[in-house]
Amino acid sequence: MAILLAKAGRRVTLLEKTPAIGGRLVRFRRQGIPFDTGLHFTSSLVGILGQMLTALDSIDNIEADSFPWGLKLPDGHHLHFPNQGRSAFYDYLVQEFPHEAAALRRYQELETEVLRNTPMFDLRAPVDDALAAFSELDQLTLDTLFRQLGFSPELAATLASPALYHGAPPEEVPAARHFRVSYGFEEEMIRLKGGGDRLVDNFTRALDRLGVELRTNTHIIAFQEFSDAGHARSALLSDGSALAFDDLFCSLHPAELLPLLPPNRQRGFRRLLAPLQDTCGFFTIFATVDNALPCPPHLTSYLRSLDFNQILRPDRNEPFLSTGAILSHDIRTDGTPVQCLILLAPAAAPPNAPQPTPAEKEAATLTVLEHAYEAWPELRGHLHLAAAATPHTYARYIPPGRGAYGVRMTTNAPRLMGRLPIRNFYGIGENAFTPGVVGTLLSSFLVARQVLGEEVYQQLLPADFPLTFLRNGIY
Ligand SMILES: Cc1cc2nc3c(=O)[nH]c(=O)nc-3n(C[C@H](O)[C@H](O)[C@H](O)COP(=O)(O)OP(=O)(O)OC[C@H]3O[C@@H](n4cnc5c(N)ncnc54)[C@H](O)[C@@H]3O)c2cc1C
Repeated sequence: MAILLAKAGRRVTLLEKTPAIGGRLVRFRRQGIPFDTGLHFTSSLVGILGQMLTALDSIDNIEADSFPWGLKLPDGHHLHFPNQGRSAFYDYLVQEFPHEAAALRRYQELETEVLRNTPMFDLRAPVDDALAAFSELDQLTLDTLFRQLGFSPELAATLASPALYHGAPPEEVPAARHFRVSYGFEEEMIRLKGGGDRLVDNFTRALDRLGVELRTNTHIIAFQEFSDAGHARSALLSDGSALAFDDLFCSLHPAELLPLLPPNRQRGFRRLLAPLQDTCGFFTIFATVDNALPCPPHLTSYLRSLDFNQILRPDRNEPFLSTGAILSHDIRTDGTPVQCLILLAPAAAPPNAPQPTPAEKEAATLTVLEHAYEAWPELRGHLHLAAAATPHTYARYIPPGRGAYGVRMTTNAPRLMGRLPIRNFYGIGENAFTPGVVGTLLSSFLVARQVLGEEVYQQLLPADFPLTFLRNGIY
């Protein structure tokens, strides 16, 4: 957002609470081995992601490898998706579930319809208000759609599995919102070479070139000077200084914004936030694997249940009902190759729960490892643990939530993108539209479009974008 505003000629100050920007894009290292924090994979660069990075002058040096993915079902059946476009994805599913071919094709058609009618996926599409394009599938839950189409539990679980990347269970998530995340995984999943660090480097350089004032180790502690018309004009910062502004763009978790408002402004915002709940968190194990086990990099999610309402609601069900195994090849700081394995298991993330004790963390580690060995017995004896993270660990990036993807996208969730009840505040970030790096970036483009006006916005986009966001225009 800071880059877009600065490119449009606005004077921008970017506030970052920690010593450096990057958040969950940044990798961390253990004994010289790089591990990803919150960007393990994403959707193809040949599409909306590549377009956005180009528009942000941040595409240089960004390279990606295809990153196939699959599922291991509770009965041991293994699905290896082709990772070669949506058509190939659905053709493969029709082969795997031949008795459900007609319903599957109907599902594919409905998804296509939603994507076609989602103008925000085409950065240039001439839309008066991209947000107006929500369809009736934005009101229908994914579970209801599955029931209407009569899917078997195996097929429903397979199609629901991208919910692991937005965190809202099928009983709550609108089918259209699920489609807007899952298309990317059906189309092509990739892994960025060098992880999110390269993006952060590019963003940092672009901010610098554009003269954005970056203030680190600083955050807002209160807003000042509310006008009768409902505008805030300045904020008190944690370093004791005051910052005057015309507009404020917040990528905070909305619950962080609430206590900063004066009491008479809190009531309405509190009501708006009332139905919101966070997504589940992830318990994560970071490990290396002996090179004795060479295999191509990929993601496989091992499902111990076919019910994604259980998998993604560990607060009311058993935790760790799914284990995502991300196997990647990387390079240590000393230049030697290393095979990394990250295990991600959905875990409860109650807002006020205390930090897990070391004993609880160890017990969780052993359970998640046992599940991994259950799915991939060949790993036993070849794993070397480097680190583990609980949902609390991630809360340091976007407090106060411990949910991996912020608030849950549900049929009754309020709109948090664009103008908030405080008239010159705008909601952006993972809570505003859809989570993940693509959804987070996209929310800024959509809000910039509203704020800057169509003419200025269109000038920010390079002239040579492809017409559609899907590879080869395949729907
Ligand atoms: C375990 C895990 C795995 C994930 N895997 C993927 C994946 O593979 N692919 C994908 O696309 N997405 C993934 N995600 C989701 C993705 O990481 C997020 O959706 C995305 O990073 C959100 O970007 P953001 O800028 O909103 O938040 P962050 O990247 O968390 O950045 C927030 C920034 O705000 C700063 N900050 C916090 N509070 C304040 C304050 N009060 N004032 C100023 N600054 C503040 C933080 O220090 C941080 O720098 C994953 C998330 C988790 C937790």
